Amino acid sequence: MKTGWQFAIILCFAATQLFADDELALRLQPALEAITPDGLLAHIKILASDEFEGRAPGTKGEELSVKYISDQFKKIGLKLGNPDGTYTQEVPLAGIKSEPQMSFIAGDKTIDLKYPDDFVASSARLQPEIKIDRSDVVFVGYGVVAPEYGWDDYKDVDLHGKTLLMLIGDPPVADSKDPSKLDEKIFKGKAMTYYGRWTYKYEIAAQKGATAAIIVHETQPAAYPWQVVRSSWGKENFELDNPNKNMDAVSARSWITLDIAKKLVADCGQNFDALKKSAITKDFRPVTLNAKANIQIKQQIREFKSHNIIGGLKGSDEYIIYTAHWDHLGRHPELQGDQIFNGAIDNASGVASVMQIAAAFMKLNPPPKRSVLFMATTGEEAGLLGAKFYAEHPLYPLEKTLADINIDGVNPWGKTHDLEDLTNGNSALDDLLGQAAARQGRVMKPNSEPEKGGFYRVDSFEFAKAGVPVLHAARGIEIIGKPPEYGKQKRDEFVAKHYHQPSDEVDPTWDLSGAVQDVQLLFEVGYQVANAENFPEWKPGSEFKAKRNAMLKK
Ligand SMILES: [Zn+2]
Repeated sequence: MKTGWQFAIILCFAATQLFADDELALRLQPALEAITPDGLLAHIKILASDEFEGRAPGTKGEELSVKYISDQFKKIGLKLGNPDGTYTQEVPLAGIKSEPQMSFIAGDKTIDLKYPDDFVASSARLQPEIKIDRSDVVFVGYGVVAPEYGWDDYKDVDLHGKTLLMLIGDPPVADSKDPSKLDEKIFKGKAMTYYGRWTYKYEIAAQKGATAAIIVHETQPAAYPWQVVRSSWGKENFELDNPNKNMDAVSARSWITLDIAKKLVADCGQNFDALKKSAITKDFRPVTLNAKANIQIKQQIREFKSHNIIGGLKGSDEYIIYTAHWDHLGRHPELQGDQIFNGAIDNASGVASVMQIAAAFMKLNPPPKRSVLFMATTGEEAGLLGAKFYAEHPLYPLEKTLADINIDGVNPWGKTHDLEDLTNGNSALDDLLGQAAARQGRVMKPNSEPEKGGFYRVDSFEFAKAGVPVLHAARGIEIIGKPPEYGKQKRDEFVAKHYHQPSDEVDPTWDLSGAVQDVQLLFEVGYQVANAENFPEWKPGSEFKAKRNAMLKK
């Protein structure tokens, strides 16, 4: 409910904007009209066809995807690409299959862990064997160093060679005024910050010189059950094949179940719940447990080259980049029946959107002031690897890259009144999205499940981590002309039945008119940034603002 004076301000703003908006609409019309349901569908049908075999990196599916997307970039007339004259950036990857063994000596007891019921373990180090003998186990609470909150779980303790036992999620600090809620001023309340993600935990452990990091799994703060940990770490996993063979990573990264963690701590003569409670304060210090860890991992390593595909429209030497991952889960021959993970929504639809946005930009006269890049990334499903590689080896300087606008999945259920903003007001880009949505007569809503950390699970996060402001919008759920519960039903059904399943296929009942609306919005935001006076900025309090400021000062 808005108050009277808020309405007055909005009306007055709307009146002065009217003329400018009409002019903008006229200027953008030919570009917006280039984005159509049929245009999206034509690309999706090809990328998600059985012939592309689910687009796993390093397979025939990659060859076909690289060729199709590059050919489209050429056809669209994109003159920029890799400065070496191609539309591809080689991304060295390694597939790793691990066979781990793990045990603890706790007090005078030995705990042998069963794989994968009790634990999973692997290494990002590209070595055939990892062997850790009798490494001291230290409980480090949530394992977080967050200077903006004055939080440091490690204090001055030397952790070289140690095995760190860590809790998943952000420290859940209660609000002192209402202990039933989390304090909004620290770790963003119930929303997940990067400090809550497992990737962060392993990174900080490596920075502290630890040998191994073991995360205690708990379903609610992790946002997924043990089954997901077990199946995702049990198969071949992928890493960047860096020149140092990832020797700067911890030797072993592991998850154990909550039951095993409780047993381990109890066998050391301590109480898990008491330790956990002590970890929810700034005063926490690492606790050395009376335990040693033995970890042995045999690794089968397969090195190969994958590719990001990049094209662009030449303007000034400042850049806006659109990203969508082309890769998906490939073909699983052990399955009965359908073996191909076609990934029609995830993410043939995002790549199709990026290609349509590229075509739309080509229709602008005059063209945008700044250069606009379009990139289909590899290895997203394996851990945002293509985006990470680009952020570490950018083809165009990141300090001159104003924004990354990422697309991962579109709405196939018709036009919506709303639109969800996964990046959730982190930067000025979210404001631009809100304004563009309003011009379409729609409303932008904040991320409905910030505790799941969706922001950190899409390619744009690698750009954010490098300092570049990012935008990632998710589908709305208020479908126009349908009962109020329809959109949520459809979304829940997709997540439960088709997400990361062979049945994520082109469906003849799709209505891509809503996808077109969303893609037009993202086009418009990019257009605004490409012509704006200033660079979009992170909002105060964002964990990426300091990085961006340092980078722009150089
Ligand atoms: Zn995806």
